[in-house]
Amino acid sequence: MAMKIDADLCVSCGACEEACDINNAISQTDTAYAIDASKCDECKSAGGEQKCLPTCGVDAIVKA
Ligand code: SF4
Ligand code: SF4
Repeated sequence: MAMKIDADLCVSCGACEEACDINNAISQTDTAYAIDASKCDECKSAGGEQKCLPTCGVDAIVKA
């Protein structure tokens, strides 16, 4: 499973991209940031806590 970003909520602050420093699953698109589901393992390889979640002040990151 992977996380995803609700593009309608994302304000493109970029904080989550920096947090995803192990899998590098998050990148900027034309309209918002997006998570590559093929790279996101919900941080299972980084201890299990989804590192991007607490960085998003607008709760745009949700379960895919
Ligand atoms: S859950 Fe982890 S691997 Fe997935 S996008 Fe967030 S920080 Fe990256
Ligand atoms: S932290 Fe939230 S608002 Fe900022 S780029 Fe990521 S998803 Fe968008």
